[in-house]
Amino acid sequence: MKIELVSGDITTEHVDAVVNAANSSLLGGGGVDGAIHRAAGPELLAACRGLRELWVDGLPVGRAVATPAFRMPARWIIHTVGPNRGAGETDPALLRSCFAESLRAAEILGAQSIAFPAISAGVYGWTMADVARIGLDALSSYAGPIPLARVVLFSEDALAVWRDAL
Ligand code: ADP
Repeated sequence: MKIELVSGDITTEHVDAVVNAANSSLLGGGGVDGAIHRAAGPELLAACRGLRELWVDGLPVGRAVATPAFRMPARWIIHTVGPNRGAGETDPALLRSCFAESLRAAEILGAQSIAFPAISAGVYGWTMADVARIGLDALSSYAGPIPLARVVLFSEDALAVWRDAL
């Protein structure tokens, strides 16, 4: 799989699957989650409401689930819940799992391209350097059929951190 690092707004990406750094409720939030819900439109919230019924306590940390992308240019949104450092979720395996499980979900859908944000690097409190190291480790060890993963960073500073890690 080819790995591309770019800066920009992930909601405008023309890829098959866009990964959302969601929370367990799947009902939207701030940061990239809020931006994705605004761009996809109210149909996304309705789809997420239906999905969350599948788990008693919401989508577990490190897992991923897909919905259509509705009004976004992508075909699907893959919602994954990153570990929240502030809540004591400090195990790197949980963050690695977000990347791996999102790839697995995209693979099942037949996606040919996938875009990731810097999961857990915002409100969930991980340093950008840690997210870059763990994310790139997960992406570079992927050996499945998806040809392209793009990491879309929200600032030039974040992009520089990922470039260094790569
Ligand atoms: P988390 O709760 O998993 O930490 P956040 O949304 O708070 O998620 O932040 C994750 C990363 O997404 C941060 O680096 C933030 O700057 C970035 N981000 C916010 N909006 C966008 C966007 N529209 N496109 C790409 N990245 C974004």
